[in-house]
Amino acid sequence: MSRIGENLAEIRERMAAACKRAGRPLAEVELLAVSKTFSADAVRQAADFGQTRFAESRWQEAETKIAASPTGLEWHFIGRVQRNKVRKILAVCEVIHGIDSSRLANYVSDVAGDLGLVPRAFLQVNVGGEASKGGFELAELEEEMAGLLVLPHVQWLGLMTIPPAGPNPEAARHWFHELRSLRDRLETRHQTQLPFLSMGMSDDFEVAIEEGATHIRVGSAIFGARDDRNEDPSEA
Ligand SMILES: *Cc1c(COP(=O)(O)O)cnc(C)c1O
Repeated sequence: MSRIGENLAEIRERMAAACKRAGRPLAEVELLAVSKTFSADAVRQAADFGQTRFAESRWQEAETKIAASPTGLEWHFIGRVQRNKVRKILAVCEVIHGIDSSRLANYVSDVAGDLGLVPRAFLQVNVGGEASKGGFELAELEEEMAGLLVLPHVQWLGLMTIPPAGPNPEAARHWFHELRSLRDRLETRHQTQLPFLSMGMSDDFEVAIEEGATHIRVGSAIFGARDDRNEDPSEA
């Protein structure tokens, strides 16, 4: 078995164990393979082991890679969305995780309307209120949610976050819990459904699953260590 295949098998086992601890069905949690900085060949290897959902965070890199990858895969865009790339991203990616302002949300809805699409998307929340990270502040999202819900050409799946870096996976638990509580408040206050939570990466996906994650975004634990010199997840 290839290294990528072994890694995938191990992650699926750890996902199953975390679901069991949390009393959740495994089918509730989707594994997104984050292939950024890795080649279309790495994507193909993962696809050969049954991985169907992939995620990229930089459009320039994603565009060529997706074109060179096997067809029939589902692509998620998890990076910061540049306005001048929205049209192309919407044409290729099924789900956008990084809607980080009402201004961007409005723009995406307008472009989607032009294209005759209603993309599925997550609202990104800056749970730690970090200056270095994008996303809605908690109070800001509570204030702006009503306006977001009436946008005609976006289907909100739920909330996404990248928590502050911590000394160990347990440190992220608090932030995952915050995201879930915010989701619960928004659902009640706006009588709406935000069923999905995109949270958890290689180092903390098990804690995220215990706290209710439905989409975990796992890169290095599948594909290996990245050369992150030009790549900052907090930029995503
Ligand atoms: C890179 C990235 C990930 C994956 O990170 P790993 O630690 O390699 O699992 C997840 N989410 C976002 C937004 C990223 O940019």
